[in-house]
Amino acid sequence: MSEQTNRLEQIKVVLVGTTHTGNIGSVARAMKTMGLSQLCLVAPKTEPDGQAYALSAGASDILAKAKVYDNLAQAVADCALVVGSSARSRTMRWPMLTPRECGFKALQEAEQAPVALVFGRESSGLTNEELQMCQYHVCIDANPEYTSLNLAMAVQILCYEVRMAALISQEESAVQVGDPTVYPSAQQMENFYQHLEEALSHTGFIIKQHPGVVMTKLKRLFTRARPDDVEYNILRGILTSMQRLEKVDQKSTKK
Ligand code: SAH
Repeated sequence: MSEQTNRLEQIKVVLVGTTHTGNIGSVARAMKTMGLSQLCLVAPKTEPDGQAYALSAGASDILAKAKVYDNLAQAVADCALVVGSSARSRTMRWPMLTPRECGFKALQEAEQAPVALVFGRESSGLTNEELQMCQYHVCIDANPEYTSLNLAMAVQILCYEVRMAALISQEESAVQVGDPTVYPSAQQMENFYQHLEEALSHTGFIIKQHPGVVMTKLKRLFTRARPDDVEYNILRGILTSMQRLEKVDQKSTKK
């Protein structure tokens, strides 16, 4: 996932005006579990303290290298894509993303330039001015009677979506590059079936004149299993070893 890892490192989590240092620690942990590492703190009430480190658990490295800024504009200055997360649908209409779309967009754009996911204050979220500094807003769908997630949990969900997008795009690029598995050709499979039929006739498992449906069922079985080149050679080897054994038996009975 190295190409994707580089992209994840280009995605910053920006926390604006966080009050509880414990939340900052929990955010660091949420980020690290999903492979993100750049934490930016905009005018935090208190800089990371013992409480923050306690809640960050194994993610203290992220806290230690967190950058602190005076305002949001400074924190996102180098970012081409800035997405603001908000629990409330504001009066102003703004381009919206679902968390899933946000994950894909962030990952895609992180290839070109740093991306920021911006989160607001525990008490009041992001101001309208801050929200207007974002190209998109993202809202995590929740119970309409109680839409406000804990800050670190909102970060966890959006970071998870970024990770899923990375996983999916990795799989897709693997498919584009070509599946490295080599499969036998149709002709080889045909040769294998003939070999199988021959070997099973010799052992008496199949009666040549009355092959019945056994070969059809075996073909279906091997089609379903789709042996690769290596497995194909093993199967051919097994058949050859059976036939060799048979010849040895025939010789010893002739003697
Ligand atoms: N009381 C605040 C919510 C603060 S929760 C308000 O009404 O805005 C702290 C931050 O977590 C929010 O600013 C937002 O960035 C994020 N958050 C919480 N719930 C969210 C949700 N349902 N969708 C998107 N972001 C959410």
